[in-house]
Amino acid sequence: MANQFSLGAAWMKGRIIPISEASIPINDWGLVHSDITYDVVPVWNGSFFRIDDYLDRFEASMAALRLDPKINRKQIKGAITAMVIASELRESYVAMVCSRGTPQVAGSRDPRDCLNHFYAWCVPYVHVIKPDIVKIGASALIATGVKRIPYDSVNPIIKNYHWGDFTQGLFEAKDNNYETVILTDQNENITEGPGFNVFCIKNGLLVTADHGVLEGISRKTVLEIAASLGLNIQIRDLPVSEFLEADEVFISTSGGGVIPLVKVNNTIFANGTCGPVTDKIYRTYWDWFKSPKYQTRIEYK
Ligand SMILES: *Cc1c(COP(=O)(O)O)cnc(C)c1O
Repeated sequence: MANQFSLGAAWMKGRIIPISEASIPINDWGLVHSDITYDVVPVWNGSFFRIDDYLDRFEASMAALRLDPKINRKQIKGAITAMVIASELRESYVAMVCSRGTPQVAGSRDPRDCLNHFYAWCVPYVHVIKPDIVKIGASALIATGVKRIPYDSVNPIIKNYHWGDFTQGLFEAKDNNYETVILTDQNENITEGPGFNVFCIKNGLLVTADHGVLEGISRKTVLEIAASLGLNIQIRDLPVSEFLEADEVFISTSGGGVIPLVKVNNTIFANGTCGPVTDKIYRTYWDWFKSPKYQTRIEYK
């Protein structure tokens, strides 16, 4: 018989339940105000990848939003580990979330009155771009109808659910037969896409945006790999015009790792395949992803 958690499990108030039964109140500020932060750590081969980096980021996000769910790091790690063990998932997308909650004083508009809460959920591993699409070559459209929300309005370094810009951009991309979307800032610089960072390579120089983006753990891993491969790296403004003249472009995400883009707008990169530098980074990424150096084994029953 299938495990009751085969579609996923959730950790809610100390209980592990099937994901389909997990819910939050309809007046939770996380829902009505997007007053919430989250993080997603991948599990691969029954091990967490770089778990402490994800926990560091999650804790920093909560602190930046003045969220305090009264659960410490060890307990968070314990909760998600117990949940993944119960799910029996060996390859999983593991989300940890902290929401503002609801005010303890009826009708209060003061965020300090809210009882913040932590919860978590896990589902079978999610690929931001499906492997069969990656195989034939993924495409992206640089949206013109919407820009990435300014970083001094909603700070993208805090992983968040303010996806209005991404969702609008995804409609534009999908309506034009592109797989995904890339957003620019107000000055025509590349920022990021829905759940991934963006890179380009030209003559051995790797460039990625320095602002308007979440500092992805996959991005960090890519930058470390690029350094280990002796590439030149620049983290700075990345104008759309420069990006479209690159030799190779790719994205990074915990949901799929390093993913080459073969087409952006009308431009085809690396003759419509994964370019040689991206390929090296891709291979190294998977070596590291499976390496005990970055993995924390989960002791399943
Ligand atoms: C999660 C996310 C990323 C990728 O971060 P990883 O830690 O590499 O998974 C990039 N951009 C946004 C907006 C994200 O939410």
